[in-house]
Amino acid sequence: MAAGHPWSAALRQRYRRIAGVPVVSDLRPYHRVLARIDAAGASGLSDGQLRERFDEIRREAAGGRPLDALLPDAFAVIREACARTIGLRPFDVQVMAAAALHEGRVAQLATGEGKTLVAVMAATLNAMAGRGVHVLTANDYLAGRDAAWMGPAYAFLGLRAAAVTARLDRTARQAAYAADITYVTAKEAGFDFLRDHTVVDPAELVQRPFHYAIVDEADFILIDEARVPLVIAGESAAPPVPHQRIAAAVRRLTPGTDFRVDEHERNVTLTDAGFRHAEALLGCGPLHDPAQYLLLAAIHVALHAEVLLARDRDYIVRGGRIELVDEFTGRVADNRRWPHGIQPAVEAKEGLEVRPEGAVLGSIPIQHFVRLWPRLAGMTATAESAADEFRGFYGLTTVVFPPHRACRRVDEPDVIFTHRAAKMAALGAEIARMQRTGRPVLVGTASVAESEALARGLRARGVKCRVLNARHDAREAIIISRAGLPGAVTISTNMAGRGTDIVLGCGDPALRERAAALGGLYVIGTNRHESRRVDEQLRGRCGRQGDPGSSRFFISLEDDLVARYGVTGLIPRSRRPARQDAPVADPLIAREIARAQRIIEGQHFEMRRTLWRYSAMVEEQRALVHARREDLLHDRSEPDACAAGAPGHHAALTSAVGAAAVSRAENRLTMLVLDRRWSSHLRLIEDIREGIHLQRYGGRDPLTEFQRQIIQAYADMLEGLRDEVVERFRDLRADGGRLDLERIGLRGPAATWTYLVNDNPFASFWVSLAAPGNFGVSLATAFLAVAYWPVSLVVAAGTFFRRARARRSL
Ligand code: ADP
Ligand code: MG
Repeated sequence: MAAGHPWSAALRQRYRRIAGVPVVSDLRPYHRVLARIDAAGASGLSDGQLRERFDEIRREAAGGRPLDALLPDAFAVIREACARTIGLRPFDVQVMAAAALHEGRVAQLATGEGKTLVAVMAATLNAMAGRGVHVLTANDYLAGRDAAWMGPAYAFLGLRAAAVTARLDRTARQAAYAADITYVTAKEAGFDFLRDHTVVDPAELVQRPFHYAIVDEADFILIDEARVPLVIAGESAAPPVPHQRIAAAVRRLTPGTDFRVDEHERNVTLTDAGFRHAEALLGCGPLHDPAQYLLLAAIHVALHAEVLLARDRDYIVRGGRIELVDEFTGRVADNRRWPHGIQPAVEAKEGLEVRPEGAVLGSIPIQHFVRLWPRLAGMTATAESAADEFRGFYGLTTVVFPPHRACRRVDEPDVIFTHRAAKMAALGAEIARMQRTGRPVLVGTASVAESEALARGLRARGVKCRVLNARHDAREAIIISRAGLPGAVTISTNMAGRGTDIVLGCGDPALRERAAALGGLYVIGTNRHESRRVDEQLRGRCGRQGDPGSSRFFISLEDDLVARYGVTGLIPRSRRPARQDAPVADPLIAREIARAQRIIEGQHFEMRRTLWRYSAMVEEQRALVHARREDLLHDRSEPDACAAGAPGHHAALTSAVGAAAVSRAENRLTMLVLDRRWSSHLRLIEDIREGIHLQRYGGRDPLTEFQRQIIQAYADMLEGLRDEVVERFRDLRADGGRLDLERIGLRGPAATWTYLVNDNPFASFWVSLAAPGNFGVSLATAFLAVAYWPVSLVVAAGTFFRRARARRSL
């Protein structure tokens, strides 16, 4: 079956139209825009004239002429600039896709069609307003690559492009964000955003207000990464937990008698004997005592870390630190931490130095962060199947553009085996056969472990192959770019090398001919992914720009996805195949696997929606607090609390240092008090979230109850803020003509650090706590309890205790 078979496409379109799915496939309006661009014609102009023309358009933009009206002239000039500087003249379909980006839509354009160039036209047009455009890339390497690659086209027109990457210092960051076009990952931009909301001096800010962003690999960032919370933390005054001692004690507990393990549920519970044993080992009082609650919680976490988390499977130890392994890709995840409490427990387990976790100063999930841009656009090869979600969460409409040369890729039907060993044997034979003929093969696996196992098997057969170990994006890019050479066998995990073009023959015409004659790049998937979209991404690695190519998945009924969702159980007993080495032929099996995948997709979607509901109100609160903070930071508000609350002192200080200095000090003071309260509030929300599923026992709706509680908590946070400001103001002294907030113990965070929060590895712990009998709901509850906010793994009863503590410390 050929990809994009005309019939299936037509039927799909008709269905979409009837069902009202937010996908535009009528490209006539874009063809009309294209005609206007062509009519504007800039190819006859000299370089100098081209620049003059561009400056003229810019002046018109500055004069208030809408960008929509300027688009045809501007695009004609930019297209020419691209051709003359980068040597790439945008194809018609690229120009049309750029127009869609300008409209704030998601443009679907196949892999290898040149989306990097598409972004240039829309970015340039929108940068004319002088307010800065962001292109959000999938990783740091791509940010650097694209800014450098596309830089000459911008420079030709008098614009500056720059990249922000993790290793830049503040000055370099400020310069990069000040550029007309800034290439940066969503994560890095998010961290900078959070950091900008902890600074005490406006001179330290690195970002400008957001204006327009183009999200590259939009499905990856807006869907797959969407629920990952970005966190900024600073030192905390919380009492230290004796992690090392607890880890030592936990190691001496005996499975069976002291605790019970449910591997499937990923849950460990202490028995009564275990309680007594732990008390004896730690020399502490009864652990049931509410006063011991924090200790008990820490023991629980340590026990989970000891029993359920395995080194080199869940994490690796490198350079004296714990580095997490991403559950889905099997890659070592950069700068990722487990939710509260788990990281130090694992450090202690491994005998490493336990690093303080600090207090969370700010947090925002990527889902909400990207919505901060007033105008957003996206581009990806796989938007269509995510179109509902783009519309639902981000209000983005998807436009599907055809490739500029018809796609010749052939997607072969899946080969399905009853067991994994048969699948691996068939894979090995197929890949070896390909290498003998010289046809290049790209194999996509589900994890690093699987990649390595496959590579070992292949090498034993004498097949030479390269494995992308997913450690280093730049090095991976080089390897993957060579995957189209004759005889190459490249094994990679799903995200590895995304964004890098695989050119048949790697630029050598003779090698290209050879590879093409053999059928082009052959993409083999060794697993169905949890989302069809990711499978489509993998298939799309071959057959770029009209090249020949084919794709095929090898799957077995023992694969994780198939086994975890009990697909075999769905097949009637009479048609269940016996264990066999040959592939199974029954089409029913393929249908059931496809169905399982759709169900899983639906569940993930549902989870993201639930999370959204829970996080929306927190996000509103964050926006209010940040807005208030910005006013205070920039002295945009005229403070009145202290003059009213402590008039005598206020008058004395005013005569000592002047009204402006007093007012600035009050603003600063208010900001720092607000920061502390916000941090405590975040902690409190975390506690509420942990315990909220218990509301189900009381017959209440957790979401309503959650919202009620966080509204109350927010009111509590603001209540008394003025009083506290006045109280602290009374301690303020004028020393040598200035007011020193540090002398009264108020300063910004001395050090901050940023990280992403991983899913709680003990997810099912929450499932077991949630109400039984309603698995669909409890799973979603568990998910929100674990996946969104940094959560500590504590017994719920303790929540009330901690809430009381958190209140007191406000
Ligand atoms: P995508 O991001 O859509 O997968 P890239 O931006 O990485 O694609 O570009 C893929 C390849 O297409 C690059 O090698 C690039 O040089 C080439 N390319 C892009 N646009 C053009 C064009 N207008 N003419 C010729 N080659 C192009
Ligand atoms: Mg790309």
